[in-house]
Amino acid sequence: MSKVLIIGAGGVGGVVAHKCAGDEDTFSEVVLASRTLSRCEKIRKQVRELRGREIEIAQVDADDVQQTVALVKRVEPDLVINVALPYQDLSIMDACLETGVHYLDTANYEPPEEAKFEYKWQWAYHDRFESAGLMALLGSGFDPGVTNIFCAYAQKHLFDEIDYIDILDCNAGEHGHPFATNFNPEINIREITQRGRYWENGKWIEIDPMSESWMFDFPGVGPRKAYLLYHEELESLVKHIDGLKRIRFWMTFGDEYITHLRVLQNVGMTSIEPVEFQGREIVPIQFLKALLPDPSTLGENYKGKTSIGCLIEGRKNGAPRKVFIYNVCDHEECWKEVRAQAISYTTGVPAMVGAKMVLTGKWGGKGVFNVEQLEPEPFLEELAVRGLPWHVEER
Ligand code: NDP
Repeated sequence: MSKVLIIGAGGVGGVVAHKCAGDEDTFSEVVLASRTLSRCEKIRKQVRELRGREIEIAQVDADDVQQTVALVKRVEPDLVINVALPYQDLSIMDACLETGVHYLDTANYEPPEEAKFEYKWQWAYHDRFESAGLMALLGSGFDPGVTNIFCAYAQKHLFDEIDYIDILDCNAGEHGHPFATNFNPEINIREITQRGRYWENGKWIEIDPMSESWMFDFPGVGPRKAYLLYHEELESLVKHIDGLKRIRFWMTFGDEYITHLRVLQNVGMTSIEPVEFQGREIVPIQFLKALLPDPSTLGENYKGKTSIGCLIEGRKNGAPRKVFIYNVCDHEECWKEVRAQAISYTTGVPAMVGAKMVLTGKWGGKGVFNVEQLEPEPFLEELAVRGLPWHVEER
């Protein structure tokens, strides 16, 4: 019986609220807070209609540590689930330290003025969380999150030695818009317009954005072209998976999406540098976000599936082995269950499951942890029960 405070009422926050509300034995009280109260109100209404449960809502600007501290002191949760934006990670961690509450998120910190995500800022909180006797669980979404746990499971059960990991993320869904992003447009576009990066033989190798691709046969979807990107779980998996020779991350994009993105980039609309417009400063990518569909509204007409997993190669009992560990998730099923599309669903469910691991004591520890540092079995067991069944395929 625990009380949880969810911060961020976007696409992912809605799923986390539904999923926590649907497990009353673990989450006896659920509070949803965000910058815009009306978004919390909308989710509260849906949870009431679909789950038959009441959740509490609150307004907070989580950039302001003292506002968040005041909210946490009033609510007195056992855990804060941060599904606002990566910009708020450090201020919410500060508020958790000040109030003595465990912390969980799904995306690593990114300074607003520089499109660069790295764990160094959050890992630097380890000693403070450790001496406060608190746990901060980082990256409990799908990727990062479930993909890290697939790697931990493979290391423990499927391989004696792992040489290569390729994380492959495919969204083969159609939302009916010429161009939209599946999660926060600003964060998403910042991520995919960066230079690509992967790790091989102890070194990071950089390539031009979207300059390497290959066709991969995704279960439940079929062959799709996937592009090499840098993604945050590479940084922690390099530390936590022993003996790795190479790790890369790939994401699929349709030709239509790439054409739109190229044009937007060429005209400067994806820039994070402020420009002067009619006597005031605007940041082009923030203006673009205002024009694009809100990701939390895409779900209603979304059709098709996501297929995300880890292709892992190494040896077991002296023999070579290659497996793909994956989940397939259907957009329309997600909409029926929680009024969200599959990207929000595949992020929100692992956030709820990670929270359950912490609150039920199945995962414990003092300090800052990436999910692959904890026992994979109880998480994966619960993940399948909560709507994301996973499979191991020999390749
Ligand atoms: P949205 O943009 O849909 O939602 C973000 C929410 O956070 C909005 O409701 C927003 O409020 C709120 N918010 C923003 N700033 C603040 C603030 N200062 N104080 C309080 N609330 C704030 O994003 P998503 O739901 O799609 O994504 C949420 C998180 O999940 C992101 O960090 C994203 O990177 C991560 N993610 C992780 C994935 C994974 O697999 N690990 C995959 C997809 C997403 P407002 O409505 O006022 O703008």
